[in-house]
Amino acid sequence: MHFLCKKCKKAFRKDMSNYEESDEYCPHCDNHYVIEAKTPQPVLGVEGDDPRINSRMLKDDRVKRDPSRSLFAVDTTDRIG
Ligand SMILES: [Zn+2]
Repeated sequence: MHFLCKKCKKAFRKDMSNYEESDEYCPHCDNHYVIEAKTPQPVLGVEGDDPRINSRMLKDDRVKRDPSRSLFAVDTTDRIG
């Protein structure tokens, strides 16, 4: 894959099959360049799982916990506002 450093304007190649954290830096000027194609994928939603089985498991889990102490209650009150 071909990259162009925005800082020193030098082109260089990177092997994406052997990409390491240090490869995020320009080999010429050590500028940390950003790869725009690199977008984080949301890890919500599980494909292929039966939602009925999931909700049953969630319900089972909730019954054992105090709802006021659940992660959801803490999360919303903390982050809204
Ligand atoms: Zn550079």
